[in-house]
Amino acid sequence: MTGEAHVARNYAPLDVTIAGGEGAWVTDADGRRYLDMLAGYSALNFGHRNPEIVRAAMDQLQRVTLTSRAFRSDALEPFAAALAELAGKDLVLPMNTGAEAVETGIKVARAWGYRVKGIPDGRAKVVVAAGNFHGRTTTIVSFSDDPEARDGFGPFTPGFVTVPFGDADALAAAIDDDTAAVLIEPIQGEAGIVVPPDGYLRRVREITSERNVLFVADEIQSGLGRTGHTFACDREGVVPDLYLLGKALGGGVVPVSAVVGDEAVLGVLGPGQHGSTFGGNPLAAAVGHAVVDMLATGTWQERARQLGAHLDALLQALVGHGVTEVRTVGLWAGIDIDPAVGTGREVTERLASRGVLAKDTHGQTIRFAPPLTIRATELDWAVEQLQLVLAG
Ligand SMILES: *Cc1c(COP(=O)(O)O)cnc(C)c1O
Repeated sequence: MTGEAHVARNYAPLDVTIAGGEGAWVTDADGRRYLDMLAGYSALNFGHRNPEIVRAAMDQLQRVTLTSRAFRSDALEPFAAALAELAGKDLVLPMNTGAEAVETGIKVARAWGYRVKGIPDGRAKVVVAAGNFHGRTTTIVSFSDDPEARDGFGPFTPGFVTVPFGDADALAAAIDDDTAAVLIEPIQGEAGIVVPPDGYLRRVREITSERNVLFVADEIQSGLGRTGHTFACDREGVVPDLYLLGKALGGGVVPVSAVVGDEAVLGVLGPGQHGSTFGGNPLAAAVGHAVVDMLATGTWQERARQLGAHLDALLQALVGHGVTEVRTVGLWAGIDIDPAVGTGREVTERLASRGVLAKDTHGQTIRFAPPLTIRATELDWAVEQLQLVLAG
């Protein structure tokens, strides 16, 4: 069956109906194979049905899957301990989706602002970056500057100040005594893999430390191996106060998100002040734990670095041949398509007809974020298909 007559039209999927998936490949109902160069927007960093992750999920499915946090489960603390160690932090607050992690980060930052920093009640501000993408809730779209995401959904949540991304001086100037936090993506994913200037994250860390402001890093898309590091902040040796994690933390199996921070920050929340029926459920914890164990060895990060260098070399060769610019970080690429060739959407449609799945963003950009399990020869093939599409 194709078409989605009964599905609300908040997406415009490519004309591909996936019925199965394994590793970097998906298959449609007719058995046609496609190389998945989007990987669920980085939720499938370890590929479709990764055996280690599926095994952890299956084992947990046989034991207990949901307890609520009214009771303890034997899966949550081991997951939290492993994730805290991976991040070098004390505590983990488990949620489900990325947007929930962002909402949680905002609540924690405000609570810290009032209870620890001493901001007068109701005045806490959070500084965010232009071009951000942090999710789709009403509070989060309140500080989006993408008209499609925001227009017609007000009234909006106040308390956010927007500064240009990558401009540390503007960020410093926006901070005042009521500022609780700076919330940024270390690399902007939805914006098209926008990498800030070298040294920007270090400056953000210095400024926020000096001014007694929390640095909240949304690593929901950039984190967990994608950039060749556990966290994109590692590229500059920077440690934020809070990591917001999601997407790949669920191993491509279930939604798992988390806010990770030290006692001095995350410890501000007490019982009853925040929660989630499903957050930290045993199945999610087992899957998240498997993901953290896989990242703990560093081999996935190394693989992303090596394959990323290979992908970058392939893509840079296309600049001037239907591509105007390529930005690659680890196994993550934003490819700006020359308007003379067509729109990003048109390129993704032609790629799909050649067996390569990718997603456009902001009109002229397409994003490659394949599973980290992909092979170099598969990257060669994907870029060859792109080259053929660009050649018309
Ligand atoms: C995807 C994403 C989110 C939102 O995650 P959902 O699971 O879709 O709610 C937040 N921040 C960033 C950087 C993302 O890429």
